[in-house]
Amino acid sequence: MSSEPTERIPAALRTEALEQLLTERGLVDPTAMDKFITNYETNVGPLNGAKVVAKAWTDPEYRERLLTDGTAAIKELGFTGSQGEHIVVVENTATTHNVIVCTLCSCYPWPVLGLPPSWYKDPAYRARVVKEPRAVLAEMGLELADDVRITVRDSSSEVRWLVLPQRPAGTENLDEDALIPLVTRDAMVGVAKVAAP
Ligand code: FE
Repeated sequence: MSSEPTERIPAALRTEALEQLLTERGLVDPTAMDKFITNYETNVGPLNGAKVVAKAWTDPEYRERLLTDGTAAIKELGFTGSQGEHIVVVENTATTHNVIVCTLCSCYPWPVLGLPPSWYKDPAYRARVVKEPRAVLAEMGLELADDVRITVRDSSSEVRWLVLPQRPAGTENLDEDALIPLVTRDAMVGVAKVAAP
């Protein structure tokens, strides 16, 4: 064993070592693994989530279904797969704000958001957002008024959370297709708001 604590070895290096070991022992097929990663890097991303949000903003019945059974409503749009087996959608409003974290590791709703950004996996974000969400959000550029109630949602292997952001004022005349490009990944994690165009 190395004397260096494992947490000081970069995750990428540890992952590479693990992949090599698994490949050598014939436990994983590196070609299949590359295909899997490329798919999540290129085909699956926050655009899927943006489509879900824009539909919910323009179709009240869909919004109801999304907030009642997120997994099923997301599946209606064709988005399913790994880390999307059980997605719960929570709505941000003028008075309540949800922000998502995985305190244990990096659980994230892949079918709608793709792979998580590095800050989401950062131990500092994971530890601090639970204890001082208002301060962490402010550091990330989102200042919330004191009367806005913040709820931190902890994703796990059981449940992955997705935020339905508040539709910005001034977008009343935009249709679903025009709303999609406004919706950002960060707004669907709850570390930002959707800005009007
Ligand atoms: Fe996790």
